[in-house]
Amino acid sequence: MTANDEIKKMLADAWKAEKERSFIDIADCPQCGWSELHTYYITGRYHLCECQDCGIFGKGATYDEAIKAASDAIGEGLDWREQPYPFHLKRLRDMDD
Ligand SMILES: [Zn+2]
Repeated sequence: MTANDEIKKMLADAWKAEKERSFIDIADCPQCGWSELHTYYITGRYHLCECQDCGIFGKGATYDEAIKAASDAIGEGLDWREQPYPFHLKRLRDMDD
């Protein structure tokens, strides 16, 4: 494992923990229909929903906006698992320090 891989893994783990802390609800996924759409309220900044089944996701200021963003993305082939951590994480980490 290279140093870069270790940093990536650290960020991915930090993001996973952040989401676990921020978890608020499970909803029906607008794309696959399963009750697998996990929703989060990330550090009071925005709402995020991610389907654990098909991978679609959406982000918005409110819960409804996040769900709508996911609905609008139906058919675009989004998969949050292809991006192990979001770009804002670095910024969050700096703020926490
Ligand atoms: Zn789904």
